[in-house]
Amino acid sequence: MSARQTELELVQVTKRYGTTVAVDAISHRFQPSSYACLLGPSGCGKSSTLRMIAGHESVSEGAILISKRDVSTRPPARRGTAMMFQNYALFPHLSVADNVAFSLRMKGVDKSQRMTAAGEMLELVDLAHLSDRLPDQLSGGQQQRVALARALITRPQVLLLDEPLSALDPFLRIRMRTELKRLQRELGITFVHVTHGQDEALALADEIVVMNNAGIEQAGSARSVFERPDTAFVARFLGSHNVVQLDGEVFALRADALTLCAPGAGHLEANITNVEYQGTHVSVTTRTYDNQEISVLLSDRDFFAHSANPGEPVGLSWAQETLHRLQG
Ligand code: ADP
Repeated sequence: MSARQTELELVQVTKRYGTTVAVDAISHRFQPSSYACLLGPSGCGKSSTLRMIAGHESVSEGAILISKRDVSTRPPARRGTAMMFQNYALFPHLSVADNVAFSLRMKGVDKSQRMTAAGEMLELVDLAHLSDRLPDQLSGGQQQRVALARALITRPQVLLLDEPLSALDPFLRIRMRTELKRLQRELGITFVHVTHGQDEALALADEIVVMNNAGIEQAGSARSVFERPDTAFVARFLGSHNVVQLDGEVFALRADALTLCAPGAGHLEANITNVEYQGTHVSVTTRTYDNQEISVLLSDRDFFAHSANPGEPVGLSWAQETLHRLQG
């Protein structure tokens, strides 16, 4: 079966460490050839899920299906998956090319074939010119691309990435995420990328799987999860939303859907508590008279057209259709 048709599915997958339930009977079918992000706070079970898919951690209960076959008892090298680790785990005494070719050496592939394959992979990640260097002669971003080439040389159907950008500085992180997205598109295989960063997930993912407390809270396209969060947890975790109580019901209300108006002229009365200049936008934090914190994101133009300072009373208004009801 070609990589394009590869389907990864989790069926009631559970992971227990002693009495800790790290992953609690999760089921999910990943879209073939798509970029999926497992997103959630630290400790919610993302890495355990990824490690079970890779085979680096045993499955306590449930099944992991790749192209409809249960691979949950197979060793990592026989699943059609490859994993890229957070710390890259390169061998310090091996050259870049030998690091990339390592798994082929383990399989007994002869040297000239290995080096040709490593060269192709290094070409793919734009590092062919550095193939003779040792890992400590490379920058963080370059080491990361070596780790990627080393994972991809096994021609996996599913590439698993555990917080792959967290060790990079913010500038490089944005460059590398563009690179990851390009590679996924070019290779047409499924990427499953673990992150706790909502910006990273929104920028990269075709599909976001939001995890919380060992379970899947919500899954869907990046846009649908952002625009229609099911729960207060998802709305808060994705950021840019307020969770607001109105007449005893809970709603998500995007910070950029709110405007400031004269006291008495809006839907809610509040006091400004903080103003944060963000360049293109200004974030205004307010506290309503019923003690809810609500943020308003204004374009710099709208903000500077009127004055708004901490301590001032203000009205908050929005278009009714921008209120999104939450399940709780
Ligand atoms: P995340 O990747 O979302 O931060 P993890 O999957 O690493 O979450 O961890 C989920 C839960 O399982 C946490 O409570 C964590 O402490 C626990 N856990 C993870 N690995 C182990 C382990 N090897 N032994 C015991 N508990 C673990």
